[in-house]
Amino acid sequence: MSDPQGIALLGATGSIGVSTLDVIARNPARYRVVALTANRDVDRLAAQCLQHRPEYAVMADEEAAARLQQRLGREAPDIQVLGGSEALQRVAGLEQVDCVMAAIVGAAGLLPTLEAARRGKRILLANKEALVMSGALFMEQVRAGGAVLLPVDSEHNAIFQAMPAGFVPGGGAPDGVTSILLTASGGPFRTRPLAELAGITPEQACAHPNWDMGRKISVDSATMMNKGLEVIEACWLFSLPASMVEVVVHPQSVIHSLVQYRDGSTLAQLGNPDMRTPIAHALAWPQRIDAGVEALDLLQLARLDFEAPDRGRFPCLRLAEQAWEAGGTASAILNAANEVAVQAFLDHRLGFTGIPEIIEQTLEKVPLRAADSLDSILADDAAARACAHELIAGRARRRVGS
Ligand code: NAD
Ligand code: MG
Repeated sequence: MSDPQGIALLGATGSIGVSTLDVIARNPARYRVVALTANRDVDRLAAQCLQHRPEYAVMADEEAAARLQQRLGREAPDIQVLGGSEALQRVAGLEQVDCVMAAIVGAAGLLPTLEAARRGKRILLANKEALVMSGALFMEQVRAGGAVLLPVDSEHNAIFQAMPAGFVPGGGAPDGVTSILLTASGGPFRTRPLAELAGITPEQACAHPNWDMGRKISVDSATMMNKGLEVIEACWLFSLPASMVEVVVHPQSVIHSLVQYRDGSTLAQLGNPDMRTPIAHALAWPQRIDAGVEALDLLQLARLDFEAPDRGRFPCLRLAEQAWEAGGTASAILNAANEVAVQAFLDHRLGFTGIPEIIEQTLEKVPLRAADSLDSILADDAAARACAHELIAGRARRRVGS
């Protein structure tokens, strides 16, 4: 077998990060962990460092890096500890890194992932927000850098697996494909009486029926913004117009998505809802490796259900589709407003039904422009965050005043 592949794992302490390390540990001859990164969870990153012995460990800021350094100083003095966003970019571009797992949540993952693209790495993309914010620029960077972009998001990984032989993201539209069907679980509130949605708590929103995920994506699943972001992600990855991407609610999360062809064929990828399958697929592609996931038991499943999404119940899906149609920086504005609103909801500063309201108002207030440079994307991301914060603070002031 060839040399082990060098892996930089951005967002190692999160749900995707932990699943990635699990798959790597099952295949020790194939992978070598070069870098692990995290935001502020020093305890977990320290434990991961002691187990996986990377060359580099990066925390999002200097203060957390100093704490990690102190922890590793005696037990693993050979690990270089760094802090800050430039260090994140640096480890994503290291010579000895072949493959970058982009598993930071939100816009914070954009710059290191772009750096991985620029340096021609194999990019395993979980961080959909990076692509949603900067799609055209991101795909151009992938092409120019000669990077290989492989989707980890379960739906997009399923679609990629069902694509014609030879198809790669960024290489143009797939031949003979007439549509893709993006499946959605519908989240925990698919059948909840509408009148109850305003009182939903963060704990209820984070209790997803099928998947165990980070808190931000769990709330996105509950509002169906996750599916909206995924429609945009699919359009970029597969070079297809939104008119060819259909959302189908499938509550069991067993069919991870489908591709339809002009000859009447519909190809699907099925599996138990466990992110280790798409992670293992992207790590090893075009080969297959063990992921620690049980094969499906169809007889036990017995039935699979499908229904159309309810855009009245889930306005976030409609808002994402509208942002895609509007083009330019609208998707970056949508994403930024969503990140701010979801955080406010998790912090009990905004109600569940306030999330789409804040996003819609932000989209109305912040003027969009062409998304033709990183500077304009980052400026509109910042403007949208400021606007959403202001709108949320205004609502709180009105509540206190009333
Ligand atoms: P998570 O919250 O569990 O983990 C996020 C990781 O990013 C952590 O390691 C955290 O330390 C790091 N991080 C957060 N903010 C950071 C910052 N400002 N700077 C540097 N690092 C930072 O999230 P997750 O569920 O693992 O999701 C990660 C990404 O993968 C998201 O974009 C999500 O949409 C996508 N994704 C997740 C799943 C899933 O099943 N969890 C499925 C599909 C796609
Ligand atoms: Mg998904």
